[in-house]
Amino acid sequence: MEGKLNVQTENIFPVIKKFLYSDHEIFLRELISNAVDATQKLKTLSTRGEFKGELGDLTIDVKLDPKKKTLTVSDRGIGMTADEVEKYINQIAFSGVTDFMEKYKDSHEQLIGHFGLGFYSAFMVSDKVEIFTKSWKDEPAQHWSCEGNPEFSMEEDKKHTDRGTDIVLHIADDCKEFLEEGTILQLLKKYCRFMPVAIRFGEESVWVDSETDCDKDGKPKRVEKKQPRIINDPDPAWKKSPSSLTDEDYKKFYHELFPMNFEEPLFQIHLNVDYPFNLTGILYFPKVRKTIDPNRNKIQLYCNQVFVTDQVEGVVPDYLMLLHGVLDSPDIPLNVSRSYLQSDGNVKKISQHISKKVADKLEEMSKARVPAEGEKADASEGHTQLEEKWDDIKIFVQYGMLTDEKFCERAMKFYLLKGVDGTYHTLDSYREKIKALQTDKDKTVCYLYASDAEEEHAYIEKAKAKGYDVLLMDSPLESHFINLLEQKIEKTRFVRVDSDTVEKLIPHDDSIPEKLTKEEKEKLQPIIEGEIDKQRFTVQLESLEESDAPMQVTQSEFMRRYREMAQTSGGGMGFYGELPESYNLVVNINHPLISRVLNETDAEKQKDLVHQLTDLALLANGLLKGEALSKFLQRSVQMI
Ligand code: ADP
Repeated sequence: MEGKLNVQTENIFPVIKKFLYSDHEIFLRELISNAVDATQKLKTLSTRGEFKGELGDLTIDVKLDPKKKTLTVSDRGIGMTADEVEKYINQIAFSGVTDFMEKYKDSHEQLIGHFGLGFYSAFMVSDKVEIFTKSWKDEPAQHWSCEGNPEFSMEEDKKHTDRGTDIVLHIADDCKEFLEEGTILQLLKKYCRFMPVAIRFGEESVWVDSETDCDKDGKPKRVEKKQPRIINDPDPAWKKSPSSLTDEDYKKFYHELFPMNFEEPLFQIHLNVDYPFNLTGILYFPKVRKTIDPNRNKIQLYCNQVFVTDQVEGVVPDYLMLLHGVLDSPDIPLNVSRSYLQSDGNVKKISQHISKKVADKLEEMSKARVPAEGEKADASEGHTQLEEKWDDIKIFVQYGMLTDEKFCERAMKFYLLKGVDGTYHTLDSYREKIKALQTDKDKTVCYLYASDAEEEHAYIEKAKAKGYDVLLMDSPLESHFINLLEQKIEKTRFVRVDSDTVEKLIPHDDSIPEKLTKEEKEKLQPIIEGEIDKQRFTVQLESLEESDAPMQVTQSEFMRRYREMAQTSGGGMGFYGELPESYNLVVNINHPLISRVLNETDAEKQKDLVHQLTDLALLANGLLKGEALSKFLQRSVQMI
């Protein structure tokens, strides 16, 4: 029989080829998915008792013949009768395509995004496509052939006696790469790695004990043996029940997914929902220490174990893209453009569900204690699981709180603040802890923090001496995050330990009497200003305890934080980013050494003294470097 395909648009094939060009490798996924479907359908018929024959080996074969320039996909599934070929191949598929062509004739972008071409995608890479198929029903096999034009031929095929379907692609000259084993293997690995029916392609070497040769100790020699290569894992971990998997299984699967990631994941969430939508998957938490990985293709999206994409922007919330793993859902519309995905109701529900599960998991970890050695598993003492992993996931949680309102609400309950002494506190318990000593005269609770415990050591010590507690806040998102906390928790202020003198970090009402008169202060100011870089330092005379340092360097909390925020948020806050780094030089007018500066009559000695004192202040702040440091050392020796 010969016929004309049921298409109104005169010649559809050049269109298929042209517009789907960018994505034409998906043809293999489409053909193998069809083969998998046909196989699954046969299994169902068999379990229902409708198909009574032998299932036999159901492995799908992919074969290359470089001489004939063909690529063949063979399955032993249900096959098609002549009527079915007529219905599914000659009519249905094409009428579908025609509808779409009509609808999207002005917008090829959408055309590409909006439908899976299924079987006809074979024409993206072939001059000619043949189908050899025999149904599981007792009907003659069919041979269908089409050369990329609306005409096709179909005839009975006596030679084909085995049940199932062979799709033979005669690869076009401009698509020669699909005749290379390497290309096909790569495509199979990308799209078919977890398809639910075994797929065989080519051969691989394995090392086995020889049956005939022995070495001199009488042990069988190891010999190389070729065996058919199965390219997929038909039963991946995310499809299994979580209770049947150990931590080791999860780790093994992680490395199967990401062979190039050598670091172990911290923990994982196994998703398994069937109402109101279908979703399975495993999301792993990697270590997120100092930077946010810009390489965002670590979540793979599957539809019934068929790989769809690893570009999941819009499918999962931004911060969740820091996680690694797989999501599998038949409810995500797959063959549509990304902008469409983002507004899809199911996609929204799915992404909210994932967010909630992540919050659940973290909350659960914040309650579970890790028993110390020799303790019972339900120990009520000791640290929590969340504390144990906190340093590695803090940035992730911060990023989530900054970008997802709902997650933020949940996380306020389990977010952990870390002290410079290494202890962890929830937001509530920390406030209780510091409230008494660290509330200022306006009833605002002041949270003191350091960004670097080494560099700010001197300031931390001073704060501790006052009985204050100091937090370590060292992530790259910290300045944004602190702003968030100040908005979320009423009557709260964060101040870095070096942003003011310890008295003023948390202003109380008691002021210290000044030892210098107004005139003396006016005389002192220019003496000090004359010896420092006025672009960088502002001299500030203050009445502090006699026992405090004579001079200290501080940096305004506001200016510093806004500069940092501008630097990490790119655009919008440009003005702050360009502010020069500036400091305050706080002079303690009650210190005896300052009186000495004022009363020194020898101009040279006075200069040296001022330099020595400013250098000491800089040194405490890690700001004395290079030539200035050498000069300081020399001067110190001379003065001693
Ligand atoms: P879709 O798979 O989306 O339905 P296709 O164009 O890929 O669209 O296939 C159309 C129909 O042809 C399928 O629904 C199926 O009934 C039939 N078909 C395709 N390939 C096979 C196959 N290997 N074995 C049996 N039937 C097939």
